[in-house]
Formats: sequence, structure tokens, C-alpha cells
Amino acid sequence: MKLLIKNGRVVDPSSKTDKKLDVLIDKGKIIDIQPKISAGGTKSIDASGLVVAPGFIDMHVHLREPGQEDKETIATGARAAARGGFTSIACMPNTSPVNDNRGVTEYILSEAKRNAAVNVFPIASITKEEKGEELTDMADLMDAGAVAFSDDGMPVQNSQVMRRALEYSKILNTVIIDHCEDKNLSADGVMHEGYYSYLFGLRGIPASSEETIVSRDIILAQKADAAIHIAHLSVKGAVALVKEAKKKKVKVTAEVTPHHLFLTDSLIETYDTNLKMNPPLRSKEDARALKQAVKDGTIDAFATDHAPHTLDEKDVEFDIAPFGINGLETAVPLFLDKLVNKNIIPISRFVEMISTNPALILRFENKGKICEGADADLTLLNLRKKIVVDVNSFKSKSRNNPFHGWELKGAPEMTIVGGKIAFSSSSLKNMVQ
Ligand SMILES: [Zn+2]
Repeated sequence: MKLLIKNGRVVDPSSKTDKKLDVLIDKGKIIDIQPKISAGGTKSIDASGLVVAPGFIDMHVHLREPGQEDKETIATGARAAARGGFTSIACMPNTSPVNDNRGVTEYILSEAKRNAAVNVFPIASITKEEKGEELTDMADLMDAGAVAFSDDGMPVQNSQVMRRALEYSKILNTVIIDHCEDKNLSADGVMHEGYYSYLFGLRGIPASSEETIVSRDIILAQKADAAIHIAHLSVKGAVALVKEAKKKKVKVTAEVTPHHLFLTDSLIETYDTNLKMNPPLRSKEDARALKQAVKDGTIDAFATDHAPHTLDEKDVEFDIAPFGINGLETAVPLFLDKLVNKNIIPISRFVEMISTNPALILRFENKGKICEGADADLTLLNLRKKIVVDVNSFKSKSRNNPFHGWELKGAPEMTIVGGKIAFSSSSLKNMVQ
């Protein structure tokens, strides 16, 4: 069945489009974009006053299935994504068992096909069991459907192993997603090392633990002429390294999370375990550098690092709580409120960072753009809608989110995946005819 989206403001950075257009969808594809499309008898959505963007892609999500379904499942994570405005998510391999063989990749894909409201793309591990020792069969994993490789959370410490992974990734035309952390430097730290870690009496994770590995892996990627994507950039020094590498034409891209942009280490005075994640919340100066890097293009993508945990796990002392926060349902309102509506970046730059660029980095040829023949994945946004974050309304299974109670302006109204409505806010439900 055809679907017509009328009167919306189409923002598509890939074609530098920002104007009022109608979009016609059929059989999961965009088939026409015109100032006025009249398609009688077609189901239509009045998107007056809304932004129509290519579907948002979160390239850094932890879905917990298989193995930790009490935190999240593929189905609940995908529902959270749809509500949060995401049409595609890429899931990290640190499940139980680790996604280091085609059996797990195939399981995730078949489960997603059965139960997921959005597109789910598995990221396989770089090394077997994420132990950092032996490479996985990357070609076989890609054949099974893996879209990238990462040992996120358990980053590869052995430089030779990372070098070989980059060399293989080059041959296979894929990308290594790098959680940059020197485990000897971060050791048993639980928050950013600095004034506040001393004040609060908590063990610190120095900025250098990120900077050293960013530096190492930029060098290794350059020598291998391979693509490397730096996950959740958090410190000023690492931003400078990425900026420098880009000048030298190294194939490096980088992402940033909402929490590293909008929260800082001083907040940990409450010892709220929903402020504990890895990399940790950094200093004000670091957050300022990240914002600048979003503006000047040093950082390419927004990602949530959605890391659900149960209440019980987080309801412990700060020291022993697990790292990670829930992010899929708060990211888009945060970016819209804090960056777009405050005129830090234009809406086109926001869409570029949350759709166009993730599609390019993950090599999704038919996503991240609104043009004839592209996949009918669309996110409809209301820039003026005011919301109050309520973790109890989450579609996700988990509630570990530090933004509870925040009043934000700007929210997703509808998420269309492959031409089907995966999520619709109550205000927009009436607009479908
Ligand atoms: Zn990570």
C-alpha cells in the first residue's frame, strides 16, 4: 500500500534539500518527491509544521540479547528506538555469548526480523570472545550480515592484533569501531580523573587512557589505509587528535553521545549511578571541546551508547555499579533542545550527524537520504513540542537514564521503517488518513 507524507519540511543534507515537499512511498521505497503530489485513495499523513528527515541511525546500541534479556531484548530495544525516532540501530557484540561467530549474527537477524520494529544491524566482535587475542572470521561474519567490527567495552589492547584487524577490514571494505581505552591507565577507575574525583573520593579514569589509544589507532589505520571510527569521543585531547588526523586524510570518523555533550563530572556529587558510564562524564572543558567539534565537523556522528541495566544492578554504591546508561528515548529531544533550538547547529547539521553520516560510515547505500529509490525510512520531528522525560514511560525494559524530569523542546512525532509506521505520537495518530 502506498503512503503519502504531505506538507512536511523535507530536510535531506545528502541533496542539500530544505523545503516543503510531499514524499510518496510504495513497497518500502521512496518513489516520488514533489512540491505537490496528489495520489487519490492513498493513505496520507499531514506533516504540516513537521520536519521530514531521512530515518535516524544509531550506530552504537547494546541490545543485551542473547544472554541478558532481563535488561533488554531485541524487541524492546527496537521499540525504544522507534519511539526515540530511530529507524535503524547497530548493536554491539558484547552479548552472552559474544557475537563472534555467524550463529550469533544470524540469531540476532532472525530475531529482529520476527520481532523488531526497526532495522537491526549486528556489529560483530574483532576478536574471539572479545578477549583481544585471536581475530574472528571477519569475512564469514560479514557474509552472515555483520556491518562492522568492534570489541566495544573490551577494547583491543594488543597493538599487533589491532593492526591485523585494520588490515583485514581494509580488504573486506568494512569499518572498525573503536572504543578507545588503555585498560592499564583506566584500571579500576569509576569516574573522570580530576578535581572532582579527588573531591568525591572516587577512583579516576584519566583522559590519557582515551588519548593514547586514539593516537595509536589513528597511526595503525593510517599505515593500513583502513577506515576507523572512534566511538563515544569524550576528551578534548582526543578531539584534537581526530582533527589533526583528518587534516592528514586518515580515514577516521568519530561519534559523540548526548551525555558527554550535556553532562559533566561535577554532577557526580549525588553519587547517582545513572551518571556512571564508560567513558565517564568528563570536565566542562571537555564538553565544550566536544560541542565545538560538533560545530566544526571534527565529529561526524551522534550515537547513544544505549546501555540498559536493571534497577537492581544500578541500585548499589557508585563504586560497584555497572557502567552504562539507557539512551534511545532521550537522545533526539536532547539534541533538538540543546543544539538545534538553541541555534548551536542548524537542523541540517543535526540530520547529517544522526542519519546521513552514520549511513555513510556503515556503508548503507539506500539509507540516510531522501531520494527516489531510497529505503522508505523516515523520521518526522516536531521542533516545538515540549516534553518532560519520564523514565517510567520508556518502551525500553530499563530505566537507567539520568535525564528523568528534564523539560525539553523538540521530539520525534513519527518513525516510518520500510514504509510502515513503527511509532506514532498520540498527536499525530489523528493526522493519518
Ligand atoms: Zn564503548
